[in-house]
Amino acid sequence: AGVGELVLEVDAIRKEFGGLVAVNDISFKVRAGEIVGLIGPNGAGKSTTFNLITGVLRPTSGKVGFMGERVDTLSAREIARRGVGRTFQHVQLLPGMTVLENVALGAHLRAAGGIWSGVLRTDRASEARLLHEAALQLQRVGLGDYLYEQAGNLALGQQRILEIARALAGDPTLLLLDEPAAGLRYKEKQALAGVLEQLRAEGMSILLVEHDMDFVMRLTNHLVVMDFGAKLAEGPPAEVRDNPAVLEAYLGG
Ligand code: ADP
Ligand code: MG
Repeated sequence: AGVGELVLEVDAIRKEFGGLVAVNDISFKVRAGEIVGLIGPNGAGKSTTFNLITGVLRPTSGKVGFMGERVDTLSAREIARRGVGRTFQHVQLLPGMTVLENVALGAHLRAAGGIWSGVLRTDRASEARLLHEAALQLQRVGLGDYLYEQAGNLALGQQRILEIARALAGDPTLLLLDEPAAGLRYKEKQALAGVLEQLRAEGMSILLVEHDMDFVMRLTNHLVVMDFGAKLAEGPPAEVRDNPAVLEAYLGG
C-alpha cells in the first residue's frame, strides 16, 4: 500500500454479548505507514475490536473494510491471508521450540490451514523456504543472533518481538498489536519502540493497543480512545491527551 492509502476502515462496528455492548458502533481508519493507537481502560472493548477486525468474532452490526474490500464476512484465516497480522495480549509461543521454528511454524500453519495438514504436507523444499523466510524476518526485527535459542529462554521483551516476527512471516499489510509493551522493562520498551518505528518507516500500518502512555505518545500518529465500548475521543495524540473527557476516563473513574 502506498503511503497515506486507506488500509483499514472500521465502520460503526458493534458487538453485543448477551445484554453487554462490548463494542458500541466504533468507527476509525488506519492509513498506510501509520501507527494508530487504540487506548482505553480495562474492559473498554479494545481486544474485542481486534477480534472483530481479524474475524475471530462477527460484528453484531457494522462493517470492516481492508484494502478497499469488505472483510467482516470472511473467515479469520482468509483475513490473515489477505494481509492482517496480529499478536495476542498474552504471549503465545512454543517455549520448547527454537526462535526460528516458532516463526517458521507460525507462517506455515497460516499457509497450510491447520496443525495436521501443516505437519503432514511439508516437503523438504518448502520447509527450507519457510526457514529461510523466518530467518529473514528475525533479522529484520533484530533477533538474528537468537535463531537457534529456545523461545522460552528469551527475555519477555525479546519474546514479544519474536511474536511480531512471527506475524511478519505472513507478509501482512496491517499489524494489530495487543499490549506489546505490557510488563516490559524500560530498555525492552525502547527496543520494541525502535522495531515499530522501523516497520513504520518501511511502510507498515500498525494498530496498537497499549496502556503505557509514554510509549503511545512517542509512537502513534493518531489516537482512538474507547471507554465502555464507545469511542470517547479521536485525533492527534497531543490533543487527545489533553481532552477533558479522556482525562476523566483515566483519572476520574
Ligand atoms: P479490553 O481489551 O479493552 O480490556 P475487552 O474487549 O477484552 O476489553 O472486553 C470488553 C468487554 O466485553 C468486557 O466487559 C468483557 O468482559 C466483555 N467480553 C469480552 N469478550 C467476551 C466474551 N467472549 N463473552 C462475553 N463477554 C465478553
Ligand atoms: Mg484487552
